[in-house]
Amino acid sequence: MVNSLSPSLRRIVVLGTGGTIAGRAASGGDNIGYTAGQVSVADLLGGIEAPEGLELAAEQVAQLDSKDMEPDVWLQLARRCAFWLAEADVAGVVITHGTDTLEETAFFLQAVLAPGKPVVLTCAMRPASSLSPDGPQNVRDAIAVAATPAARGVTVVCAGAIHSAFDVQKAHTYRPDAFASGDAGPVGYVEEGAVRRMRDWPESPARSKLLEAGEGAAMQWPRVEIITSHAGATGAIVDLLLQERAMGVAEPVRGLVLAATGNGTVHHVLEAAALRAQDAGVAVLRATRCASGRILPRPDDKLRDAGALTPVKARIALMLELIGTAA
Ligand code: ASP
Repeated sequence: MVNSLSPSLRRIVVLGTGGTIAGRAASGGDNIGYTAGQVSVADLLGGIEAPEGLELAAEQVAQLDSKDMEPDVWLQLARRCAFWLAEADVAGVVITHGTDTLEETAFFLQAVLAPGKPVVLTCAMRPASSLSPDGPQNVRDAIAVAATPAARGVTVVCAGAIHSAFDVQKAHTYRPDAFASGDAGPVGYVEEGAVRRMRDWPESPARSKLLEAGEGAAMQWPRVEIITSHAGATGAIVDLLLQERAMGVAEPVRGLVLAATGNGTVHHVLEAAALRAQDAGVAVLRATRCASGRILPRPDDKLRDAGALTPVKARIALMLELIGTAA
């Protein structure tokens, strides 16, 4: 649904994708036994006033629990963002989203759009039916960020903090203040509709060419699996994936992200299997499973590292690289 607009107003477009923020439970006291993705984005905007001189428009792009997110939805979302951001009177885009894979969608959109206007994802840890939902304030704050002159790039707004798409991670299973930015810290804070910025807006050196494929083009997503290194790790899963490849399955693995320990270290048995995979033509990338810090490369590294990217973000970066559209 897109609202009718007065031509003199600038717009903030709010795209809905589902999540807990759009979730409903049978009772207001139940904050965990709900079904995500029930309430339309237009209804989520009910009662929220646009900042002065701005008008809100709503569009439902998807309606799902973000644990079930798929790359085709990312692509659809990126296309809708690109469409709206190209409109001269659109100041920015807000996206309502589930918390579970929010950081993946944010990272994907930053890589693909590298937007010069703000794209602000927001969420909730309590469903819309909660006695005390956190969604409405998060949406108000996200709109305030999207309306901020000079704001740009993809950010996540939750519990009054603004996180960069590069650094944001879900860090808590239950509390409303569920996101963290590790060593980098938040980009800033939203306080009563005003942004207090601590550092630069996210900026990419270049933009992925993914959207150049054209509006209707279907995407063949390369299969990239994440395998964790841990005490007692084996190479069994890697070897099974290599066997599948040799058998000529429809979607053979093309990339592996090793969720590595500490500074990118990998159990020697898993590392040997990963090197076999690399020799067989599979792209292998190590990403640290630590919540903070980055991998500092060493001259004798035999497997590439993903720097500060978490395993899930490294997976997206590798998928884009394999499609040939990495930034
Ligand atoms: N499972 C929900 C989702 O990611 C959780 C949430 O939104 O907090 O859609």
